[in-house]
Order: sequence, then C-alpha cells, then structure tokens
Amino acid sequence: MAKTTKTEHSGNAVVYSSPYIPAEWVAAHGFVPSRRSCMNYNRTLFISPPINVEAGVCPYMRGFINQAAGDPGVRAIILTTTCDQMRRGADLINLWTKIPCFLMHVPSSWQTAGVKKLYASELERLGHFLVSLGGIKPCTDDLAAIMLGYEGKREKLLAQQGALSGKSFAEKLACFAETGEVSEGRRQDRRAHKAIPLGFIGSPLTGNHFDLFDVFAAYGADIVVNATETGERVLPARFDVQRLKDEPAQVLAQSYFGAFPDISDRPNDKIFKWMKKKVEDNGIRGIVSIRYVWCDKWHAEVERFRKCLPVPLLDIELNGEEIGARAKNRIQAFMEGLL
Ligand code: SF4
Repeated sequence: MAKTTKTEHSGNAVVYSSPYIPAEWVAAHGFVPSRRSCMNYNRTLFISPPINVEAGVCPYMRGFINQAAGDPGVRAIILTTTCDQMRRGADLINLWTKIPCFLMHVPSSWQTAGVKKLYASELERLGHFLVSLGGIKPCTDDLAAIMLGYEGKREKLLAQQGALSGKSFAEKLACFAETGEVSEGRRQDRRAHKAIPLGFIGSPLTGNHFDLFDVFAAYGADIVVNATETGERVLPARFDVQRLKDEPAQVLAQSYFGAFPDISDRPNDKIFKWMKKKVEDNGIRGIVSIRYVWCDKWHAEVERFRKCLPVPLLDIELNGEEIGARAKNRIQAFMEGLL
C-alpha cells in the first residue's frame, strides 16, 4: 500500500474523512487535501489523546481524530454533521487540541433546491475558513483547472477497476483520497477468474481492516463492489463540463451533494436500490455489512439490507482493533454456506 509521509504535507495538510468534502475545493485554496482512511495504521496513535477508548465512542471517529491530532503535518481538520459521533468529535478537537477545526453542515435531505443551496453555502463558509488560515481565494479558472485535474485522475483510477482485485482497487481508491495520486495497476493485482463475487457495504475501512479482503480471498472470494464509505460508492458524479469553465463552484457542489447514495440521507432509499442493482449487475452472491461498534447509522439498517437484497448477508462488527478470531470463524462459516 502506498504511504503518505508527514513531511510531504509540510504542515499544510487539511484532513477530513467525509466524502462530502471536495478535495478540489481544499486544493484550490492552497492546501493539501487528504481524505484519510488511516492507511498508515498506527495503534499507538489510535489510542492516544485526545479521545479515549471508552464505551459509546465510535472507534473509527476516535482513530481518525487521534491520528490527525498526532500528525504535526496537519494544518486543520474538517468534520461533517452527517453523524452525531463526528459532531461530538469536533467538540473534543476544540476542547483538547489547538488544531483549527471546521464542522461543515451537510443536509440529510437531498430532494429540494433549498438543501442544495445550503450545501453550496457551506462550501463557501469552508472557503472563508481556509482563507482565515492563510489560504487563497481561488479564481474561477484555477478552480476549474484543479477540478479537471482531479476528474482526469478519477477516470484513470476507474479505468483500472475491472482488472484489479478488490483489495488492490480499494487500496488505490484510499491512496487517491489521501494523496491525490493514482498509481498504475500491476500484473499480480489482477482479479481472480473463478473467485466468488461478494460486495462490501458499510462504514469506512481503516488500514488494518483492509486485511478483510485477504481473509475473504483465502476462502475463494473477491470483493467486486466496495460500497463501504472508503469505496467507489462515494465517488462524486462526473462534472458538467459545459458549465465547468463559467461556474465551477456550482458544478462542484452539484457533483458532491446528492450524487452518491448514503446511509445518512433522509430518506435513504437510494442506497438500498443502488446496492440491489449492484448485486444484480455483478452477479454478487453474498453481502458483507461492515460496521463499527457504537455506529448507530449502519447498525440500524443491517436488517433492512438483509430483507431487501436477494443474497445472504454477513454482519461484521469491528472495534477498531485487529480482525478477531470470532469474526474470522463467522467469515469461514458464511463462505462455506456459499460453496
Ligand atoms: S462509522 Fe458510523 S458512527 Fe463512526 S464516524 Fe462513521 S457514521 Fe459515524
């Protein structure tokens, strides 16, 4: 897996974990955008301050914030209101660290022009925050050029998807989100022909949880759809190139808000329909729901996924530590049931 070093950021990294934050917007303001899935997993940082290991605290939120707070290359942290744990995380950053933190309001409803306008105004507010940190207010041409650069890289990345194993593609996606760079596929990454196609759905994966791909591969499976919050489900929609040169900020907002199906949408029917179609289109034979202990959002919907999808579902609860023996035994039993 590609590594992102602290020195690369030179104290200029603006980090976030939400897919609703456009990397293009952060980059256009003169910072290094980094959507982190904690690829450089470091257990010491995960359990170090400011957020303690305790009941009720989402391990993913804790890990993300503790890693960011322990990285001297981080200039600011952006969180979103899409879950209560992250809202609380923003309070804790402000309480226990000196790192500037921006809490962006992302509307849960998505159907009306009003909520789209609200999201666009929140991007503007984020822009003011970045300028207050010493960033630059981007001109239209610069923003449009940065957006085209990112779009080109996303297309290059997606062009590799069919040929790569589920794990390789997931790592490349996470690397792109974290560094903005796309590496070429390697021969040994190729998808296994006779593997049992499965899909992941759920919370973001962190560094050590990428091992889940290997655990399933050991039982002859490949993950052909990664609909976790670090997977391809949360990529923005393609930009409207006709409007891009004249009104890039509006095009950016349109591609990032309401464009991908999310568990926090209200209503959130889109994600169930989207996943059902993925199962049908890809011949998926089983779904693995991956969620963290204390994550109400994903926990609340497991049974609905189970009922609406035409294939068996395995529910895995992670606590932020290594994948335990119990989870591995359940995976084995699930795979045996599919053979
Ligand atoms: S895993 Fe769940 S609780 Fe944790 S930050 Fe994500 S949505 Fe929130």
